[in-house]
Amino acid sequence: MADLHDVIIIGAGPGGSTAAYELARAGLDVLALDKATFPRDKTCGDGLTPRALRVLDTMGLLDRVLSAAACHHTITFVAPRGHTASADVISHDERYQSVAIVPRLILDNLLLEHAVASGAQFIGSARVTDLRRESDCMVVEAIQGKQPVTHRSRIVIIATGASTGLLVKMGILRRPPAMMLACRAYYDGITHLDQSVQCRFDGVPLPGYGWVFPLSPTRANIGAGIFRGGIASWWMPESARTVFDNFLRTPSLRRLLEGAHLDGPVKGYPIRIDFARAPTYAERVLLIGEAAGLVNPVTGEGIDYAMESAHIAAEQITAMFASGDFSLTPLRAYDHRLRQAYQRLFRLSDRLRLCYLNPFIVNRAVQAASHRRDLRDAYMNIVMENDDPLQALSPNTLAKVLLG
Ligand SMILES: Cc1cc2nc3c(=O)[nH]c(=O)nc-3n(C[C@H](O)[C@H](O)[C@H](O)COP(=O)(O)OP(=O)(O)OC[C@H]3O[C@@H](n4cnc5c(N)ncnc54)[C@H](O)[C@@H]3O)c2cc1C
Repeated sequence: MADLHDVIIIGAGPGGSTAAYELARAGLDVLALDKATFPRDKTCGDGLTPRALRVLDTMGLLDRVLSAAACHHTITFVAPRGHTASADVISHDERYQSVAIVPRLILDNLLLEHAVASGAQFIGSARVTDLRRESDCMVVEAIQGKQPVTHRSRIVIIATGASTGLLVKMGILRRPPAMMLACRAYYDGITHLDQSVQCRFDGVPLPGYGWVFPLSPTRANIGAGIFRGGIASWWMPESARTVFDNFLRTPSLRRLLEGAHLDGPVKGYPIRIDFARAPTYAERVLLIGEAAGLVNPVTGEGIDYAMESAHIAAEQITAMFASGDFSLTPLRAYDHRLRQAYQRLFRLSDRLRLCYLNPFIVNRAVQAASHRRDLRDAYMNIVMENDDPLQALSPNTLAKVLLG
């Protein structure tokens, strides 16, 4: 019989590696499996919010991550008609008043190395194909290299991101949920690259946005993301690649990229944003990060949620081992903690999206913010989740938007 681990973690992205680090530090026997070999790329905008920086700091990794990152203190919003408003990044904690852009090829590898250095075991090139309960343990079937292999553990964390195959096979999800679609590429040799994070609503159908995230004075991660759910499916292109190509054809992007060159392939990937309705546990199984639908449904950022939910899951699992209680009760408590932290934002997101479905409102909102500091701060606090998202729809905010 294979070794019995305390915890097996399936997926070694930011969620899986953070959980592996925390659990290994708590003295548990942890095995992380990933279908990829590391370092590996993950299609992403590479943006780390102040909340992600805070978690990295508590893990003792912040300085190493920042030494590979470009930090920006302002976000520039560009309206469909081209008006701009630049707002300072605001965080509750003044140590993290920036957005850091760091390639996932580097970030995810640093996180995984940190987990391994703290005692977790890692096996790459191990695609998990099935998972089942067997008396008081979980049996994890994987194809490792080309060989079928079986691992066993008391608890399993699923951290497989937007890839839903395993969750559907296990019956945790009945079918893949509606997802955002996004596409990005790296460009180098850009001569006039503004050193701020750009969120652009020009040239991208709503609800969606394009981005320019500078990685250096001449290199940027450029991409576009859309939500095709509900009535948006009437006018949305089917693929994020089409949206991305159209975004690059806008006059401002053509000017920006004159003389620049593509640095690597253009890549697209879906984004799960369905946490409000998503399961977060099953018998002896906890779901974290994007596997639990935890990506901000308005901005599409999920690295911070992945690491925060990993932290909550690790606390819960440590308590389960301390008490010897592996029943559904502590798993329901895990779900409850996630709901308390995030449910409201995800429930409100449909209304928020309806608001910025509308080019008239987005034009007004950016134009008004260009000369109102209070409005810029209000947007930033909502985007950074320092404030209740309902503030975006409050009569006070809407009056400022409409009256300027
Ligand atoms: C184009 C795009 C841009 C984005 N931009 C940003 C951004 O700027 N900032 C931000 O915060 N978020 C962004 N996101 C979202 C962010 O990438 C994810 O939310 C984040 O990676 C989730 O982390 P995770 O650990 O949950 O999953 P992931 O990072 O997706 O990691 C999942 C891991 O599981 C492994 N895996 C999957 N299935 C199996 C299996 N069966 N067996 C073994 N291993 C498996 C995968 O190989 C992978 O390594 C973006 C997403 C996209 C698509």
